[in-house]
Amino acid sequence: MHFNDLPRVTLGHLPTPLEPLASLQSTPTGPRVWVKRDDCTGLAFGGNKTRKLEYLLADAEQQGATAIVTFGALQSNHARQTAAACARRGLACALILRDAVGRRVDDYERNANLLYDDLFGAAVHRVPADSTPEAVLKTVLAELAQAGHRPYVVPTGGSSEVGALGYARCALEIAAEFKARGLYPGTVVHATSTGGTQGGLVAGFRYAGLATRVLGINVYKTDSAAIAAEVKTLGQAVLDRLDPTLRLTDEDVEVVDGFLGDGYGKPTAAMVQALRRLASEEGLLFDPVYSGKALAGLLALLEANRLSDDVVFIHTGGAAALPVYASEFLTP
Ligand SMILES: *Cc1c(COP(=O)(O)O)cnc(C)c1O
Repeated sequence: MHFNDLPRVTLGHLPTPLEPLASLQSTPTGPRVWVKRDDCTGLAFGGNKTRKLEYLLADAEQQGATAIVTFGALQSNHARQTAAACARRGLACALILRDAVGRRVDDYERNANLLYDDLFGAAVHRVPADSTPEAVLKTVLAELAQAGHRPYVVPTGGSSEVGALGYARCALEIAAEFKARGLYPGTVVHATSTGGTQGGLVAGFRYAGLATRVLGINVYKTDSAAIAAEVKTLGQAVLDRLDPTLRLTDEDVEVVDGFLGDGYGKPTAAMVQALRRLASEEGLLFDPVYSGKALAGLLALLEANRLSDDVVFIHTGGAAALPVYASEFLTP
């Protein structure tokens, strides 16, 4: 099936800008580095979930859904973008948010993404850290049915094979942008967690006929093999829709460890340093949970000379939640 025939609703400001990161091109022989500004997708502070939601909500609407149910941590960027997208499309939205990070700061429990979820009219259901979202899901689905809704359940991070289509489309966008400049995207680097972004990218570059390496910096869990397996499954599912003759192998999926620190949402010194550096040298904001840790990975890989020309860092967003981490950056 041709890509443009897949059902999609328009939510994002696409294509997002592709900008040179001049301050990272310190040596004349080093690779050229670009930032793909998916923090500027336009919907509610932007971020990578908008691309996924364009396909997810099209699928939901095609199935006659009137409500979206999805999952995340308390400060989930995915939940915030889903709530905004539902507001835009006139869908009800229920968010099941687990206190996964355990950050006991008043702002973390009330401000930033949680404030926006509320403004967008989403119903927020909080789940304690020691509980699972599944039990709550049953109740939420029953309540929605009771109110006459037809719910559509979106997995954590929007990472279903439908959501991953958004990042296959992003790969095609990057391929076209580099072709227009007479250049080649040798390596793409980004934060990876639930696998939809990386799976979609890997599938998209393969579909475009490019040998671009996609390096997902693990910011999510110690079991990176589980992330890699998810990436491969989602990527193959995308290819099965586009061109089933294309097969992914384990070598196509590269999940990079070493930048997670003590766990998901827990700040690291390398993240603080990388975030401060790009803010002061480029005027760009990244976030402590995803893009900042991925940036720390990018800097280390550049330092070790492990990336081939041209390098594209995908800014997946998240800076809307930066203020709830203020204490990590400010000296008291
Ligand atoms: C969700 C998210 C990611 C990770 O995307 P996945 O598709 O879940 O791997 C990266 N960065 C930000 C800011 C996110 O919100």
